[in-house]
Amino acid sequence: MHTDQELNYLTKSLLHHPSPYIIYELDGSIAWANIAAKYIFNLSKLDELGVVKIDDQITKNFGDLGSIALYYDTPIEISLREINFFMRTRVHMIPVDISSGIMLIELLCSSRSGLDALRKTIDCIEHNRIELAYQKQVNLETDEVTGVEALLRLQDGEGGYLANDEIIPQIEGESLFSLVVLESLVQLEKFFAIKQEIGFGDATLYLNVSAHTIMHPEFCKIFTDFVEKHSLAPNQFGLEVTETAELADMNVASASLNALKKKGIKISLDDFGAGYASLKYVRDLPIDVVKLDKHFTFNVSDPSTARLISFVTEVCNDLDLEMIGEGIETEEDKQAMLDLGCKIGQGYLMHRPDFLDSFIDKDK
Ligand code: C2E
Ligand code: MG
Ligand code: MG
Repeated sequence: MHTDQELNYLTKSLLHHPSPYIIYELDGSIAWANIAAKYIFNLSKLDELGVVKIDDQITKNFGDLGSIALYYDTPIEISLREINFFMRTRVHMIPVDISSGIMLIELLCSSRSGLDALRKTIDCIEHNRIELAYQKQVNLETDEVTGVEALLRLQDGEGGYLANDEIIPQIEGESLFSLVVLESLVQLEKFFAIKQEIGFGDATLYLNVSAHTIMHPEFCKIFTDFVEKHSLAPNQFGLEVTETAELADMNVASASLNALKKKGIKISLDDFGAGYASLKYVRDLPIDVVKLDKHFTFNVSDPSTARLISFVTEVCNDLDLEMIGEGIETEEDKQAMLDLGCKIGQGYLMHRPDFLDSFIDKDK
């Protein structure tokens, strides 16, 4: 243990350090955590802080204690209550005197809002506040339900829900988010158990995933195992892929998508038209469905937007891809989309996302 004076000196010099950090003794005990770290872990007392498992390798990597400027980036396993996950950290070795040192571990987070999103997500994981809502996708001509999209609902602990668009983009690249995906799969088991009974026997259940998730080999396997474990027939389960910018490595993306397709998982390209290079993805990736971004629907009355929508429907017809228009809120939107050749739609007009219970009650 180092003297209070030493720690005082260090913490004073780090007073305005923006990222959350924890100071460790070389034996692994926590000596200090700054306000930002406490804020992330949502704990007021140091001794209740989640345990960070430090691999021996990390200390070995530093070699000589005398080299003060050494630091490197590494994922570190963090165990919070029962849950283990990895977070990106930067580890600094600080020699305090000639024979001993301490480690300063910074959690890498680029912004205040990123920190906030992390803290809120950890809170949801810790307190089981992860749910899924479901929204129907329907054939606009016949009203037949062709698909159901599962949408994440993270409870804020005060009776409301966190805004997906504000939270998810900040954390879906973090390994922590894999815990949310795993929990979603647990929830989906309940859906698949009664899918037939609630009238969705022929519909595809789509889960939203970021490209980051599906391109991870472990996740590819988690999804294919899920299909096998539940003996899901082809097209019972699908993935809506967002964040297409991350599909940049076309070889890896193609291999992942092919492996998923081989197991009968349907692949939908979400928010088509909102990302960049989407046409290239349509050409080069083994996708089944193009899901047009809702902002096209919102502006369907604008003639040039209408031209673009009809161009997309033509491309989809030619390439034998399904097309889904989202964000259909009015009868006028629906008719306009049908007139432009879009046959499947999703939106508040037909159905608002709702929890599984609502489908069970209606069926009784
Ligand atoms: P998305 O996949 O494009 O989902 C459609 C979003 O539009 C949903 O918002 C849905 O509630 C909303 N929506 C549906 N119909 C209408 C409509 O007629 N009008 C309007 N204005 N909105 C409509 P939500 O649930 O807030 O989700 C936002 C985004 O968060 C999703 O966009 C998706 O990118 C992401 N997301 C949701 N759940 C997950 C998840 O489990 N994993 C990941 N990685 N991302 C998710
Ligand atoms: Mg989606
Ligand atoms: Mg979308």
